Amino acid sequence: MDVIVTGNRAELTKAREATGRGRYALVPTMGALHEGHRSLIRLAGEQADHVVVSVFVNPLQFGPNEDFSRYPRTFEADLAVCAEEGVRVVFAPAVADMYLPDRQVSVSAGAMGSVVEGAFRPEHFDGVLTVVLKLFNLVQPDVAVFGQKDAQQLALIRRMVADLDLPIEIVGGPTVREGDGLALSSRNRYLSADDRATALNLSRALRAGAVQRGPERIKDAARAVLETAARLDPPLLLDYLALVDPATFTEVAEDHRGEAILAVAAKVGTTRLIDNVVLTLG
Ligand code: AMP
Repeated sequence: MDVIVTGNRAELTKAREATGRGRYALVPTMGALHEGHRSLIRLAGEQADHVVVSVFVNPLQFGPNEDFSRYPRTFEADLAVCAEEGVRVVFAPAVADMYLPDRQVSVSAGAMGSVVEGAFRPEHFDGVLTVVLKLFNLVQPDVAVFGQKDAQQLALIRRMVADLDLPIEIVGGPTVREGDGLALSSRNRYLSADDRATALNLSRALRAGAVQRGPERIKDAARAVLETAARLDPPLLLDYLALVDPATFTEVAEDHRGEAILAVAAKVGTTRLIDNVVLTLG
């Protein structure tokens, strides 16, 4: 069956009529689709009868000095991926179709939106939650699938669903990596071979931390890898290394028991990368 491409609410309604009854799953993306996105589409297919993929580079979640204008846009290739994966509907609105010129109301991510990743990207999570809520309202899925790769985003979306009583089930999918550990990201295509060699130290640091016991030792082991990588050419420029509670994104105490997320963000050249692993402590 062909993929139905839509760009606004009226087209979405028509596409749903054409697709028929059943459970709908939404996979929100910014395009430049890779194996990580494919894994979420497959997970969505296991959760529902029909999969809708949205492709929208959301200006609200980019800061003034971030890569909105140069973010990779590969729509034809994305459509081919969606067709291969059995996606029924692609929702790819223009910016002008998503945001009214006089728009005012938006979602606030609250305190959890301004720590860890949010401390380096002010208003980023407000922008993410605003577009995700709009996508939920437009597509009206029964279930939506997000990657653990963006762990704080996933946690905040679960928080929004709980706090605003959204009738949508949220499913998280594991991070897909290259054979050598590099987490797949649309931004990896910015990396030169030397950049990539330096970038590998993000996942290397997480693995070094993951085999240790206790928050301080976990962070020390990861930090040692990152400090060595800071002396490479090109250097790894660390934004943060944090070991946080998966539900709140606050730093865990030394006696923390249960799940924790070891999260890292760094720049290599002009490319900013994030990664994380889920650990069980105690
Ligand atoms: P993006 O297009 O980067 O906004 O990502 C769209 C969705 O794909 C988000 O839910 C991401 O968390 C998820 N995603 C991105 N990279 C990966 C990956 N390597 N493995 C699994 N999911 C991913």
